[in-house]
Amino acid sequence: MLLIGIGEEFEERSYLKAQPEYERGLAYLEKAERFDLLPLLAEGILNGRGRAVRALRELYGMVADKNYFIISTCQTDVLLRAGFPENRVAMPCGTLKKKQCACGCEQSLTEVGEVELAALYHDILAENPDLGALGTCPYCHGKMALNNIFVEKYLESGYREDWGRYTKWLQGTLNRSVCILELGVGLDYPSVIRFPFEKMGFYNQKAFFIRINERLHYLTKELNGRGKSMAKNSIDLLLGGVIL
Ligand SMILES: [Zn+2]
Repeated sequence: MLLIGIGEEFEERSYLKAQPEYERGLAYLEKAERFDLLPLLAEGILNGRGRAVRALRELYGMVADKNYFIISTCQTDVLLRAGFPENRVAMPCGTLKKKQCACGCEQSLTEVGEVELAALYHDILAENPDLGALGTCPYCHGKMALNNIFVEKYLESGYREDWGRYTKWLQGTLNRSVCILELGVGLDYPSVIRFPFEKMGFYNQKAFFIRINERLHYLTKELNGRGKSMAKNSIDLLLGGVIL
């Protein structure tokens, strides 16, 4: 069994920062205080140009026939674009698939359409002062936002179903040999992947832990002898044709 964590390296932040249209969009969203739209901006800029999807396609080719589950902190569609089926992925920091009201009305959580997203992306680039393509909340009439961790009142119920599938899968790893593969996970959201994965690696005596990270590759001493780390960027590694 293979537990995979996908983290910040797959957001391609340094590539994004070098794109003038990203920098402009970012400044505009900061001014408009619409941080929930940052993943949408990133998705639009990276689409077809980024390396993360290609790298994840390589990963998919390696694990498709295995019993795996993925936890990702990325809020873009990279995993789905790479071919991973939704039922093997949980994204606790949010996705582009759902929207919620900014006030956090629990019932406001709904699916987002491609047309809404396209209109919104266009409005961001055009610096349209009305970023209202997601509509208003039928309960409090407040603005709708994308359902992700950037919303102050983030509705975590957006990923509840996926999380349920994950915990069920995890139960099946008890006393089984499991490989925990952490790819490019930094310290932005350590309680989502890094810390719980380390804990699992420590408590499951049959687990083997692999940490790939360009900067934060050190393993805790508790995992000595049952883990391996590599100071390499995960995208570079996957595109370099490494065989897991
Ligand atoms: Zn509301």
